[in-house]
Amino acid sequence: MSAGPAPTLGPDATIGILGGGQLGRMLVLAAARLGLKCHVFCPEPQSPAFDVVRRVTEADYTDRAALDRFAADVDVVTYEFENVPAETAAFLSARTPVLPDPNVLAITQDRLAEKRFVGSLGIATARFAPVDAPAELAAALEQVGRPAVLKTRRFGYDGKGQVAIHNGSDAQTAWRAIGAQPAILEVFVPFEREISVVAARARDGRVECFDVTENEHRDHILKISRVPADIPAAVAAEAQRIAKAIVEAFGYVGVLAVEMFVVKSDGEHTVLVNEIAPRVHNSGHWTIDGASVSQFEQHIRAIAGWPLATPVRRGRIEMINLLGAEVEDYRQWLAAPDAAVHLYGKASTRPGRKMGHVTRVWPSR
Ligand code: AMP
Repeated sequence: MSAGPAPTLGPDATIGILGGGQLGRMLVLAAARLGLKCHVFCPEPQSPAFDVVRRVTEADYTDRAALDRFAADVDVVTYEFENVPAETAAFLSARTPVLPDPNVLAITQDRLAEKRFVGSLGIATARFAPVDAPAELAAALEQVGRPAVLKTRRFGYDGKGQVAIHNGSDAQTAWRAIGAQPAILEVFVPFEREISVVAARARDGRVECFDVTENEHRDHILKISRVPADIPAAVAAEAQRIAKAIVEAFGYVGVLAVEMFVVKSDGEHTVLVNEIAPRVHNSGHWTIDGASVSQFEQHIRAIAGWPLATPVRRGRIEMINLLGAEVEDYRQWLAAPDAAVHLYGKASTRPGRKMGHVTRVWPSR
């Protein structure tokens, strides 16, 4: 059962957001600028989004009574994280429109389904093989080759749930290290750089892509995004074509990010899709200060049934994540003339935790 098509929202409508992290917080701020109200649903009491919104539900995602009240209070539901439990999405969909369509979650929550979906569109990924049991590992390694990366099919993020298998290393140790659960084995890609494209698709089918972002990770966590990516124009166009093909194949409504590897061999560039995030994305944070419209506003426009904007980049841009204790440097960043400082208001610091970010814009392109 479905609640039917989403209505076009008026400026006084209420958007329900599942998840109250920094992405939810920045979605609320973007909605507020457009006169839209939000209601944030999140189990954690100290959620960054709670501080910027009046209507909150602090309850578990399986709490049906709380979900029922939440659905009754909002005109449309969206989410800021991809691991929304399938039952939660189905329960809400029966009561109120949910955008993007939760069907997308079933694919993007499972690395194997995601890779097969991308492949079905004729888009390349790293060579991979499913591994459902330890006995399948040897054949998978044979097929994929070493070095390789073993990744859990579900619930992996920021490098969690994945382990490298080098030439001499023991595959069974890797299987145990990821918790002995259904996995995929991917060949290790000797990429030249990592890039991402943040794309928005409106209900009328219009697609707008932001400029390609180049991403530098540290310990598997995004540290710096640079725009424009240092890649030939044809490679950038190919990356945007891929993102567009993916949102169109999903019939997607909202913002989605595609993370990709750029591989250079014999002077030729190839683009491989690594991962799809069906939500606003850290590598799109630069758009708040660095573009005429942010990824958060595009997402709100799309799910509200409003027209998308054509994003215009304001210059050369660097977005630096403040991870863990780095947030303590905020006063130095505040003093930098070209830095826009964003702090997420998180109460406690942990190593690698995303505490804020800084965007620097140099107007010359
Ligand atoms: P993921 O969780 O799949 O996004 O992986 C996190 C990071 O691990 C990526 O951004 C890459 O830096 C690295 N990584 C993941 N898969 C591969 C691969 N097959 N080859 C090389 N590096 C990878």
